[in-house]
Amino acid sequence: MERGKGFVALVGAGPGDAGLLTLRGRDLLAAADCVVYDRLVGDGVLAMMPPEAEKISVGKTGGGEFVPQREINEILVREAEKGRFVVRLKGGDPFVFGRGGEEIEALNAKGIPFEVVPGVTSALGGPACAGIPVTHRGEARSVHIITAHTKEGGIAPLDYAALAKLGGTLVFLMGASAVREICSELIRSGMAEETPAAAVENASTAAQRLLSGTLGTLAGICAAEALRSPALIVVGGTSALAGSFAWKRFLPLAGRRIIVTRPRERAGKLSAMLRARGAEVVEIPCIATRRIKAALPDLSKYGWLGFTSVTGVEAFFALLAENARDIRSIGTAKAAAIGPATAAALKERGLMPDYMPDVYDGVHLARGLASLVKDKPLLMLRAKEGSAELSRELEACHIGFTELPLYETVYERPAVIPQSADTAVFTSASTVRGFKAAMPELDVECACCIGVQTAEEAKRAGFKKIITARKATLESLADALEEKNDDSTPEKTEKK
Ligand code: SAH
Repeated sequence: MERGKGFVALVGAGPGDAGLLTLRGRDLLAAADCVVYDRLVGDGVLAMMPPEAEKISVGKTGGGEFVPQREINEILVREAEKGRFVVRLKGGDPFVFGRGGEEIEALNAKGIPFEVVPGVTSALGGPACAGIPVTHRGEARSVHIITAHTKEGGIAPLDYAALAKLGGTLVFLMGASAVREICSELIRSGMAEETPAAAVENASTAAQRLLSGTLGTLAGICAAEALRSPALIVVGGTSALAGSFAWKRFLPLAGRRIIVTRPRERAGKLSAMLRARGAEVVEIPCIATRRIKAALPDLSKYGWLGFTSVTGVEAFFALLAENARDIRSIGTAKAAAIGPATAAALKERGLMPDYMPDVYDGVHLARGLASLVKDKPLLMLRAKEGSAELSRELEACHIGFTELPLYETVYERPAVIPQSADTAVFTSASTVRGFKAAMPELDVECACCIGVQTAEEAKRAGFKKIITARKATLESLADALEEKNDDSTPEKTEKK
């Protein structure tokens, strides 16, 4: 069905971590003209909002409502009636204390078509992230999801006597400030003080905390540990299983919130690697690359072609195609790649690299080429504002070369500024500059850098802790993030 115009999708964003957004939710979000979102939607999901979409925050704060529900309904109707494809992004699942039904009533009243994309509700996904199975053979044969929020007009207070008799797992949402009441009322209604109980705060995100106790002790523990919203309370025998089921401890980057600053089309692999190691990843592309118009030179004049990035490879082949040429026009010229990713991009296009340095940076590329480039010069196919060190080194090595800039990098304006992060990962000096330009206020302690030049830029930008990958590869970057050592010195990329 054509979902293009005058349509609203109510999308459940999951409990916070972007990896828990559904595939359908992600696809619809990518197509949105307008996104209306809540406070509980994770930064990683918000960062997926299309740059050109209008973004309307209707964030609700703990106590009351920031934007009244009636007004949210009006916004949805208004935007859809403009003929737009509106995505209404909600924390968790739209129908679990999400007021999705009220929004649908408003859309129905105006005949606006809509669809609902279920989300991982925090009520079930939250405990799972903390290692609490909400049902367990022999322990709990039912699970009950309850709101502890009783401030809404017209709602009767909770019937604790009935809850105490259920025997299954009780999950209370909106209960961070009501832990004491919940626990004491359940005890008063006949549940044993020793019944295991737990609170899960910021489930699924790097800030996730699990506080475990019993009905008798949990309120005191939560007060001492300053439990904060968003949090849920789990009551019942299964909550004690987290002691042995908590799985995040097996993941080396659990608890780390990492910003990946690579250009959008290049971020996926690195993000996937970091998520696989347990990090909460927020993709904030800080730079984008743009092709520059260039005339195709007579390639037969050159003995070597030098490539310093995957983008350079792509741009070169695009330039050939635009000129109705193909790989044969390079004749007998050889190809040099700065590192494995660039080499792989060349291979994919049927060009086997003839040279790649051991250390993947411009200086080593130039030094390696010094003995290889003979009478026919080198053509460097690179970024307009690429590293000056490479050109300096080529000159110092007396290599005959021409530079052909094929693309330039521009700073990106991020869709959202994340609330916090402990580390930002930089794969070039330009991503550092783009990051500082886009988010000057954001205080991120650690910069994890792909190489020495990037690290120097990060130092200039004022990062307190700088980690440098041992090799200029994504794998090595991910490894570096795991290292406890603050000032790991790069093995091979040191300069004399
Ligand atoms: N529709 C949402 C719930 C909205 S009510 C869902 O399905 O998850 C808001 C309450 O959800 C919060 O007060 C808190 O109790 C719970 N909640 C949402 N995200 C959470 C998270 N990441 N960790 C713990 N609790 C969360």
